[in-house]
Amino acid sequence: MKNLIKYFGILIVSLSVISCITDKKSESAKSTVTETVKQAPVKSILTAEEQENMTPDEIIGKLKKGNENFVSNNLTQRDHSSQRREAMIGQYPKAIVLSCVDSRVPVEDVFDLGIGDIFVARVAGNIENADIVGSMEFATAVAGSKVVIVMGHTACGAVKHAVDNTNAASMEMNSLQNLLDEIKPSVKATPKSGEISSKNTEFLTNVIHKNAKITVEDIRKRSPKMASLEDDGKIKIVAAVYNMATGKVEFI
Ligand SMILES: [Zn+2]
Repeated sequence: MKNLIKYFGILIVSLSVISCITDKKSESAKSTVTETVKQAPVKSILTAEEQENMTPDEIIGKLKKGNENFVSNNLTQRDHSSQRREAMIGQYPKAIVLSCVDSRVPVEDVFDLGIGDIFVARVAGNIENADIVGSMEFATAVAGSKVVIVMGHTACGAVKHAVDNTNAASMEMNSLQNLLDEIKPSVKATPKSGEISSKNTEFLTNVIHKNAKITVEDIRKRSPKMASLEDDGKIKIVAAVYNMATGKVEFI
């Protein structure tokens, strides 16, 4: 009898161990499946149909969500080889972003985007000129993008030099001087609060905001086509500022 009890005892313990191992295995299989689903890289790129079906407001919403992913360090995995191959057929980007050249502003990453998602135009101080607006006319009126974002950024060096009235021409940099002169109307248009100097952080930040807004107005003035697309609700032209400390994009 004692032997029988001992036998059943061993059997029950063995079954418990086996069941425990099986449970652990299935849990680990489950978590592997979950991880695989979570990390499955995006292989496709935007299609003409997807671009066609999005409104400007929906696109801005998606860009804001993408920026949340960037801020929380949760960027989407992408299969660039596969996306590159798909992109050979054509491109249907949803927006064009005009950014400063600053190396600390990685535009696609900032919105959690990749190949085929957006056009990016860059020039120090994110000002507009004929070539930039020409690129935007192509992006919107020809290639179907529905949102134009002029994105300044905090602590912008180009805006700092415009505020401080740096004389680049005296250092044989006439082209840089021309660029700084393009930013100066934004310095003049910003309400004065304290010292006119890039050391005045509040004033500098206000100029950076004003500069993005003035660029938006200048784009509308320079391009009747884009202004009329916007009047018809087909595109939106908006200003934004990227905060380098937090990674957050503020639409203004
Ligand atoms: Zn800058």
